[in-house]
Amino acid sequence: MKKSVFVSLFLLTLFLPLSFSKSLQIETDHLETSLSSSTQTQGAICILFDTPESTSKETPITGPSIVLNGEETLTIPADFYFTDPGYVAYDYLGDDITDRVIQEGEIIPYLVGTYELTYTVTDDLSQTARAVRTVCVVPVELPDIVDPPEKTVYLTFDDGPCNNTEKLLDILKKYDVKATFFIVGSKGHQDLIARAYQEGHSIGVHCFRHEFNEIYANEQAYFADFLKAQEIVKEITGSYTHIFRFPGGSANTVSYINKGLMTRLTKIMEDMGYRYFDWNVCADDVGSVVDFTTIDIERRLKSGIQRHQEYAIVLQHDISYLSICAVDEVIRWGLEKGYTFLPLDLTSPVLHSVVQN
Ligand SMILES: [Zn+2]
Repeated sequence: MKKSVFVSLFLLTLFLPLSFSKSLQIETDHLETSLSSSTQTQGAICILFDTPESTSKETPITGPSIVLNGEETLTIPADFYFTDPGYVAYDYLGDDITDRVIQEGEIIPYLVGTYELTYTVTDDLSQTARAVRTVCVVPVELPDIVDPPEKTVYLTFDDGPCNNTEKLLDILKKYDVKATFFIVGSKGHQDLIARAYQEGHSIGVHCFRHEFNEIYANEQAYFADFLKAQEIVKEITGSYTHIFRFPGGSANTVSYINKGLMTRLTKIMEDMGYRYFDWNVCADDVGSVVDFTTIDIERRLKSGIQRHQEYAIVLQHDISYLSICAVDEVIRWGLEKGYTFLPLDLTSPVLHSVVQN
């Protein structure tokens, strides 16, 4: 402490009436004087002097304190995780008592809102210090959507990669057409994901394990699966992808096991900076009713694309060999008719079905 402070304090104590001069407390931050004998302050070091008139035999002491690392008010983008920047706490002797801090309050980092965390510490003299941190979780800002040129077709392939994916990549390469792969992480074939990425196709997350009951059990289960798939994408492409497709689409009813889950997940994932894509043209190439030929799939895709002249987001599955075989003819026909084939990205038009759960 500076000498001038000591001098000021000394002069001040001389002129204080005895009845008020039991003790003098100085907050070093502001050099404020206080006539209280309390030793408790928040987030600041305080020093207590006994005046000569004091009857106390105690040596000079301070109260406990908690100092927050980082800002008292944090504004963070919605995310899967929140890491508290931490705090330190000291007792009246200046000893570290951080491990005695009790933290109350909870932050749900993926839910936009304002939260409060309260930290309390009590020293050996039963003196308590308290600090509060406010955490504002805000949505991640996404890039603006750019209207695509008329007659744009986004070919998208779910549930791969698999052995068929190689043939599919060959077809796309033949026409120099870029598409989008919503991958299932547990499928392996990472060389094919790498090839798709290197050849300019978009890689999005579908899931890690395509098990509806597992991934739609609750938010945490969905996140865990999603993040596992993300890690694979990162490993192969060097970065996380921000586009994805919900298994079964956002309008799925397989998530009924958890009421309202899709309503919550669709918002949460967008708040966290991810864009999901449903479709307006479906190949109907998987499932129990598949008894169609490649010709049937071609016909279905062509008529669907024609119905959506503004843009078509086409759902196919590369696990269906019949479907992959239809791609050649659909691209040939599409290019001839003046369609543009583009991969999806964060600026692509979102196409969202009406959520059913
Ligand atoms: Zn799927």
